[in-house]
Amino acid sequence: MQWVGVPRLAAAVSNAGGLGILTALTQPSPAALRTAIKETRAMTSKPFGVNITLLPSINPPDYAGYARAAVDEGVTVFETAGHSPGELIKFFKANGCIVIHKCTQIKHAKSAAKLGVDVLSIDGFECAGHPGEEDIGGLVLLARAAKELNIPYIASGGIADARGIAASLALGAAGVNMGTRFMCTVESPLHQNIKEKIVASTEQDTVHIFRTMRNTARVFKNKVSMEVVAIERRPGGAKFEDIRELVSGQRGRLVYENGDPDYGIWSAGICMGLIDDIPTCEDLLRTLERGTEEIIGNLNSVVVTNSKL
Ligand code: NAD
Repeated sequence: MQWVGVPRLAAAVSNAGGLGILTALTQPSPAALRTAIKETRAMTSKPFGVNITLLPSINPPDYAGYARAAVDEGVTVFETAGHSPGELIKFFKANGCIVIHKCTQIKHAKSAAKLGVDVLSIDGFECAGHPGEEDIGGLVLLARAAKELNIPYIASGGIADARGIAASLALGAAGVNMGTRFMCTVESPLHQNIKEKIVASTEQDTVHIFRTMRNTARVFKNKVSMEVVAIERRPGGAKFEDIRELVSGQRGRLVYENGDPDYGIWSAGICMGLIDDIPTCEDLLRTLERGTEEIIGNLNSVVVTNSKL
């Protein structure tokens, strides 16, 4: 949700009864994050959280500075994601905060639980952005979470409709995390062309970049992402420097601002295939709530076959 988790969207999600999340690194500095937190608070009296993602970056961010700024501003819910979150988690817990940690493998989820996180966000291979390197889909990952984790977890990756939510609850999740779905709402900051592009796209319109650099990211399939994949597949492979200009987040940001879906790299999940409207966050959450209750109410018989071995 880089460039998307801004005050207006986070406040709209919280006002609709969800937990809105601001993405810290969308703000250029810890001071700017403080301003964004104040702006969000002016738009909602409900709780909201801040995400800090620790992944390779062209200009390494001041993660500790962002964390301190948010805690000083009174934020009490944090989502961490990426590599080596230990120091951040310790800092948040020492300050009495609730920490949700996003993981793509059960072994990482267990390590995060040992570090004291309160909730895990279990992120299947269907997700937008960084799915890890093991390619485990949500169905198996969540069922393993149900068997092996002893703290609450929410389901991430591939969820955009009531069926996905009902399935996640059946898999033991306490809730769901949706990125691509919220990108395509009235309050999302994306240019209207990009929202319409998501509606027009299918589950076949994403591609993985950075596979060869062990920093895999699922992004929208366009000219730039296909060029990156072609460079990575060259005999002898590619170095990050060979693709730096193409993949830069600053360039991707302009896709959202100017509305040209081919201009740069932008994250999108395969749940695009399930998205066919651009509702307000309020309408979206009410529709999902009603749909989920209806599906759960109708679950009364199960047929099992042995034809998929
Ligand atoms: P950026 O402009 O610094 O980098 C662009 C992309 O290149 C990012 O995906 C980054 O991980 C990758 N990258 C940077 N240096 C790399 C290296 N040496 N080797 C391999 N890959 C490298 O990033 P940004 O778009 O401004 O985003 C800021 C941060 O937020 C990055 O760490 C990015 O990974 C992260 N992010 C995470 C998600 C997610 O799904 N969790 C989505 C978008 C961005």
